[in-house]
Amino acid sequence: MKFEIINLTIMKKNLILIFTVLPLLAPLEAQNILKTSGIYQNNREPLIQKPFLELPLGAIKPEGWLKEQLIIQKNGMTGNLDVIYEEVIGKRNGWLGGDGDVWERGPYWLDGLLPLAYILNDKNLIGKTKPWIEWTIQSQKPNGYFGPDTNNPDEPGLQRNNAEDWWPKMVMLKVFQQYYSATNDERVIKFMLNYFRYQLQELPQHPLNNWTSWGKFRGGDNLAIVYWLYNLTGEKFLLNLAELIHFQTENWTEAFLNRDILKHRSYHCVNIAQGIKEPVVYFQQSKQTKHIDAVRRGIADLSQFYGMPHGLFGADEMMHNNNPTQGSELCSAVEMMFSMETILPITGDVTFADLIEKVAYNALPTQTTDNYDSRQYYQQANQVMISRTPHNFGTAYEGTEVLFGVLTGYPCCTANMHQGWPKFTQNLWYASADEGIAALIYAPSTVNIKVSGGYEIQVKEETNYPFDESIRFSLKMVNSLKFPFHLRIPAWCEKASVKINGIVWDEYEGKQIVRINREWKNDDVVELILPMELKTSRWYENSVAIERGPLTFALKIGENWKKIVNNDKYGPFYYEVEPSTPWNYALIEESLNNMDENYIVIKKNISPEAFPWNPENCPVEIKTKGVRIPFWTIYNGSAGPLPISSKYSPINQFIPADPEEISLIPYGCTTLRISEFPVLRLNQ
Ligand SMILES: [Zn+2]
Repeated sequence: MKFEIINLTIMKKNLILIFTVLPLLAPLEAQNILKTSGIYQNNREPLIQKPFLELPLGAIKPEGWLKEQLIIQKNGMTGNLDVIYEEVIGKRNGWLGGDGDVWERGPYWLDGLLPLAYILNDKNLIGKTKPWIEWTIQSQKPNGYFGPDTNNPDEPGLQRNNAEDWWPKMVMLKVFQQYYSATNDERVIKFMLNYFRYQLQELPQHPLNNWTSWGKFRGGDNLAIVYWLYNLTGEKFLLNLAELIHFQTENWTEAFLNRDILKHRSYHCVNIAQGIKEPVVYFQQSKQTKHIDAVRRGIADLSQFYGMPHGLFGADEMMHNNNPTQGSELCSAVEMMFSMETILPITGDVTFADLIEKVAYNALPTQTTDNYDSRQYYQQANQVMISRTPHNFGTAYEGTEVLFGVLTGYPCCTANMHQGWPKFTQNLWYASADEGIAALIYAPSTVNIKVSGGYEIQVKEETNYPFDESIRFSLKMVNSLKFPFHLRIPAWCEKASVKINGIVWDEYEGKQIVRINREWKNDDVVELILPMELKTSRWYENSVAIERGPLTFALKIGENWKKIVNNDKYGPFYYEVEPSTPWNYALIEESLNNMDENYIVIKKNISPEAFPWNPENCPVEIKTKGVRIPFWTIYNGSAGPLPISSKYSPINQFIPADPEEISLIPYGCTTLRISEFPVLRLNQ
């Protein structure tokens, strides 16, 4: 890639982004670095100052395996959904002026397609987004309303009513924010101002839940865009609108602080995943720390009472429990990631960054096929068979919920899943408010970013993270520049070390963002080592999961894939997967007490450019021993009740077989798996 240096302080169009220095307001751990950057957009008064600032869409490019992942999306469903799911996403879609689907699915697709198109700078994909952008802008009425406005009679597979609902427009607002970030198309500003004036006028009579309830639970997405536009324009009415939207949105702050999510199982998984951002988004205006405390409480409760080692929670679709055969919806994965990506730069809280990696590197890769031709509606943390069978899910779809297909389970994920990896890429790097750079999520990438004084530099991040412990950053610039470089040290890391140009710079404890402020010169190299000790975590029925860094490891099970031709509403085909090797293993308590000796980590020689998320290509594997539990068998297409891991030896219940060697591979590389293992004590 050709490297260009531009002194942007002399470029006129950037002057509109320069704001005055504001007082330090956020009572957060990142407060010490707060200062308004004159280079990138921070919040305007009276909103709090953010420690980290988003970069324009396209400034961060994927490399290595991440680039391969995005190209697979381009060649798979993301780049071709208009053909594959033509009945909904094709020319008849209401968001193209047609008489077909008028609700969320068209905007959902755009919300992933558009960032993918601009990150890859792919002309064909950008071309596919254009008719949707242009039709939507043209659809705006004199009163500010935009989008489809006509309800049509039911037609199987299409959502042709609730055209005026607030909710799908919230998704389209996210699309337009990203479109503006990539293109600076000034029409977006006027379009959004007109719409938000309309919202301010209409919401008192027609609140967020007027047409459907989804908008009430997901108002945080609407709110985030209102603040974004306020920062660009300074229009004060937007702050009034923000208060109104917050007021009409589900009170997530109280729901988390009062622990309602433990009492009311009626919360929908995707509403939780989206709603969890709202308190922190509103905190920018309220400045009350209870809004941040609520989200921390919510994440802790989700983990403790519903959590699974893939980073999400048991909710199929309503909140269920933490039995590892309960489902986790694909929409929950991508929406939880987006929520954390939204609140990370506001707070600079490592917990949220760690959770993004947990979901992205465990739950997300398993729920789509390697060529991105199909996806699961629900995944299971212990998933030993993929078949068309009744399951113990709260919301079930004729046994198709775990099948890989285009329309198996329910179709929302087919349209919504595309945002996962592109937005993840877009959130690897941030500008810091102190005119430096920040690597808060780790993956192979290159970023072009402006630092102190507006000079553009380029940083290349070379790594096989999350499989490897070492991350190498090489810096390109014309003249030496002094600026801070912020690096996240994850909570799972006990002692990280940083080398600069081969010489040890410092060591750091985990769960912090460190700031290295020095004069940097061209070709400087920063090496971050994050030692990945093997760890155990405890789950349902006192089971154990094995973790190494951000990765959970799961039993490698032989997989027999079978493609089934189908002719009902669940799509033209689906995949079933049967286990070809045993799965009903317990881990051995005595081995867990001495993991260094009994859990052998093997690094494999896999190209860092290769797609890593399958059993063949997984770059790291763990060998240990397990013991089969004969009475742990299949029940309704799922692993049967998980044998309890008692502190009293269960060995007297049966005569265990001899321990056998088993392989554990990263959860994200499995389709069939056990990730929550029962534990057996061999000696009395
Ligand atoms: Zn979904």
